[in-house]
Formats: sequence, structure tokens, C-alpha cells
Amino acid sequence: MNLNIGVIKGDGIGPEIVTEAMKVLDRVGEVFGHTCSYEQLLLGGASIDVHGVPLTDETIEKAKACDAVLMGSIGGDARTSPWYRLEPSKRPEAGLLKIRKALNLFANLRPAVLYKELKGACPLKEELTEGGFDLMIMRELTGGLYFGERKTVEKDGVLTAYDSLTYNETEIRRIAKRAFDIAGKRRGKVTSVDKANVLDSSRLWRKVVEEVAKDYPDVTLEHMLVDNCAMQLVKDPKQFDVILTENMFGDILSDEASMVTGSIGMLASASLNETKFGLYEPSGGSAPDIAGKGVANPIATILSAAMMLRFSFDLDREADAVERAVAEVLQAGYRTIDIMSEGKTQIGTSEMGDRIAEFIR
Ligand code: NAD
Repeated sequence: MNLNIGVIKGDGIGPEIVTEAMKVLDRVGEVFGHTCSYEQLLLGGASIDVHGVPLTDETIEKAKACDAVLMGSIGGDARTSPWYRLEPSKRPEAGLLKIRKALNLFANLRPAVLYKELKGACPLKEELTEGGFDLMIMRELTGGLYFGERKTVEKDGVLTAYDSLTYNETEIRRIAKRAFDIAGKRRGKVTSVDKANVLDSSRLWRKVVEEVAKDYPDVTLEHMLVDNCAMQLVKDPKQFDVILTENMFGDILSDEASMVTGSIGMLASASLNETKFGLYEPSGGSAPDIAGKGVANPIATILSAAMMLRFSFDLDREADAVERAVAEVLQAGYRTIDIMSEGKTQIGTSEMGDRIAEFIR
């Protein structure tokens, strides 16, 4: 199979970590008989330096022509970088919002995985996380409170602010389907999180999710109120497989879930649209404090590439091989500086990529 991949190396540590993910993808190609063709795309600061804007229409068109896009991270140090002297709509992050919108990426997937080898980084009690955990948060990304109408009015000298939370059936159905599809590829359970005891939008959410569930008899559906979910994530994270939720709840719960894994350098993410297309990137930023030093952890980007193999190309065996290689490298005791602990072997970005590639078979 030929994998037609757009590559946004981005800023800061982006080029270093993406190079390692490409190394691993090339190795997957060698072992499993695929070819990867890469189209380099500019976004963020790298695009501002060349074109004066963080994203051009030409880049959007080129991205659309790819099967999937692998991205590092974009942005710089806001205190020192000249990119932040530009007006807000011309800064690096504006490019990211624009590409997500242009590609209609409505589903954001963030896995939170605690590898048993890294259990020391987890802030929870050991008995709660024995053997590690592996859950996935699917957050609706283009609707809800963040995109609703808002206004602030003054009446009789008192300010009142309004934000509206709206969802329609179509928006709920399309993301619910993605969640059930993905749960079907995992352990077959969806926990739909809402606030149906209070909000109409949540009651509609629940109704539509239940309708979608009928088409997936092999996937178990449970509903959970968002306040309970926030508690359950720190009480018993092992109970979850796929958590499906709306934009604001997902924003908060995905940060909570990633915190319980303990390391930003390990967290992958994917943003998907209605087709097989997706944008795959690490959850962390461009880490300007360590850029160019060869110490950044490339694992989140490598795991994002594994998600790309699974969700955009349906190459489950290949994705499993990458995830297994990451676990094996950790078992063998190799660590980048951010996940280093006593008695382990510290290695740099490029060597971590080499080791993971070696373990692909
Ligand atoms: P950050 O995630 O870049 O860094 C936070 C801390 O985590 C730093 O100490 C950094 O060294 C460390 N870190 C992050 N990724 C790491 C990795 N792979 N290996 C080892 N350590 C790692 O967050 P920040 O400093 O708040 O943001 C820096 C820039 O990144 C800003 O311009 C911000 O806007 C941008 N940003 C971009 C994205 C994105 O591209 N999607 C996401 C978040 C932040």
C-alpha cells in the first residue's frame, strides 16, 4: 500500500520529533511492504518565516490531497519570538485553528495510556493503577459552548454575559459513530459523558447516542454524568475504554486524563473528519525550552503515527507493531530525559527513534 502522508514538521522540537516518527513509519513500510510518500507542508512559525502568514490556502489544498497529515507542534516562546509581535490572526496558533476548521476535523481523540514501566510518573496510588490503564477520550471539537453565540450586555449598570451551548442531531450522530467504530477496534465499551440531569443539549446527546448504539450490538454503552466521570478518572481509570463527550467536557476531562498518566512526551492525539482523513499530532507543544538540544521525547509523535496507521489506513497490525515496539523499548529500560528514572538508560531523541524502529518486526 502507498501511504500518502502530509508532514508538518512545525516549530521548536517539531522537526526533531517528526523526523523520528517518519523513521519509524519507514521501518513499518520495510517490514510490512508499504511505501510512504511524504508531502512537506508549512504551518505556524515555519510558514510565517516563508510566507508571512501561519497557513496558506495552497497548504490547505495540499493537505486535503493527502490521505492523512502527521504534525509536530507549532509555536514559539511568546516572550521572545517575533511571531508574537504579529496581530493575533497572523500568529502561529491561528494557523492551527484554521487548518482544523478547513479540514472539518470534528472529532478529537486523545488516548491516555499508563505503561506499567512508567507507573512512577502517575500521581495516583499504585493499587488503583496496577498493571497500567489504556483509555481514549473522544471529544467533539467543532460545536457546543465554544462555538455558540455569545454576548455581554449591560442593563441598569449591571453586566450580564451569555454563552450558548447548542448541538444538533447530525453533529452528535457523526461523532457517536466514530466513537463506536473505535471502541469496536478496542475493548468494545463506550462511556458517553453528559449532564443529562440538567442540560437539554445533554438529553439530546444521550438520545442520539442510544440510537447510534443500536447499530453496534458488540459494543457496550454506558452513560455517566460529567461530574461523576471527573471523579471516576482518578478513582478507577481502568474501568474506561472509550469516553465519548462534547467539546467543553472533553476539553477538561482529556487534560485530567493526561495528567494521570504523568508525562506529556508520551501523549498522542488525532483529529478526524467524516472520511478516513485525520491530523495526527502529539498533545504537547513545541517545547522551545529544549528545541534543538536532541533531548525531546519523540514517543508521543510516534504513537500519533501509530494512530494514523490504525484510523486513516486501517493498518491495525502495523499500528500494533509500533505500539508494541514502544512498550518493548520502555521495558528494555531506555528513557528520554523527561521520563528518566533511577537505574534506567538515558538516550536522546534520535536514539529513541532508532531503538523503536529496531523493535518493529
Ligand atoms: P509545551 O507542551 O511545549 O511544554 C511544556 C513543558 O513540557 C516544557 O517543559 C517542555 O520542555 C515539556 N515537553 C513538551 N513536549 C515534550 C517532549 N516531547 N519531550 C520532552 N519534554 C516535553 O507547552 P508550552 O511551553 O506551554 O508551549 C510552547 C509552545 O507550544 C507555545 O507556543 C504554545 O502555543 C505551543 N503549543 C502548540 C501546540 C500544538 O502545536 N498543538 C499545543 C500546545 C502548545
